[in-house]
Amino acid sequence: MDQRGTLTLPQNGAHRVREDWYEGFAESPDVLKDAQRQQTVVQVLDLEIGGEEFITMAGPCSVETEFQLMAIANHVRRAGARILRGGAFKPRSSPYAFQGHGLEGLKMLAHAREESGLAIVTEVMSEEDVPMVAEYADILQIGTRNMENYSLLEAAAHSGRPVLLKRGMVATVADLLRSAQFILDNGNPNVILCERGIRTFETATRNTFDVAAIALLKQISHLPVIADPSHAAGHRELVPALARIAVAAGADGLLVEVHPNPDKAWSDGEQSLDFAGFDAMMEALDPWLALRGLELAPRKRGVLQREPVGARTMEAVG
Ligand code: PEP
Ligand code: MN
Repeated sequence: MDQRGTLTLPQNGAHRVREDWYEGFAESPDVLKDAQRQQTVVQVLDLEIGGEEFITMAGPCSVETEFQLMAIANHVRRAGARILRGGAFKPRSSPYAFQGHGLEGLKMLAHAREESGLAIVTEVMSEEDVPMVAEYADILQIGTRNMENYSLLEAAAHSGRPVLLKRGMVATVADLLRSAQFILDNGNPNVILCERGIRTFETATRNTFDVAAIALLKQISHLPVIADPSHAAGHRELVPALARIAVAAGADGLLVEVHPNPDKAWSDGEQSLDFAGFDAMMEALDPWLALRGLELAPRKRGVLQREPVGARTMEAVG
């Protein structure tokens, strides 16, 4: 019998699938959407992550020199970035690779905030360093290698700073949400999830960008979701396309590596965009953001988008 025209999707199909998901994530109930919590908006200085604005976090993999950092901060700000990224503590695959400037790097980041007005996100690798990193940074980044380092997560939660939680490279979505739940359980509701690619059998890209995880997280969790196309791709040529895909999948923002001379970068140069590449990536996002009714921060080349925040104390930002 010809069933064309008579086939209908079960009316409760989507609902049933969603309930299955809720069972699958039962160990992280507080990160799931419910009637009270549809979207967490994380306030950082004068901007909101998970709100109306698409937030781009951009900067070098590693903080190298004051000159390098300042040049990048000024450039990415004019191109529409709102947050400056840069590692002062670097988890490296090789023990002989540059490990970061530590405290000196944090001071350079704080100086760049004063000069540019951009908020700062930087990685913290050990629980002992949390108070120091929290003194200088606006957002604490937990790296992929530390997603399940519970003593670090606990210390980061207690710092009171928002936490950018990167998905472990071999972590499932449920694992990621469990770690997020742990931070919430430790009294910090300001968790930002980050998809940065996972390990699969594919080796052409550095990691496999799990775009379905972004769509899934946006459906089931009220926490903001940021995409990192740089570590997902591992090759700068692919970063703009992955950024556009992240927008289409519903991400709340991006974390992108940018360097004035990527071939000379002290870490992750092969995946870092140069200034022209970053500008082109940002401009190419516009029509995709428009489809979602979103905008980037206004791009006012050569003009400050907002006043630098100047020196501030821990108390001033809570
Ligand atoms: C980084 O952001 O530079 C970084 C080391 O990221 P990940 O932890 O995702 O590898
Ligand atoms: Mn990096």
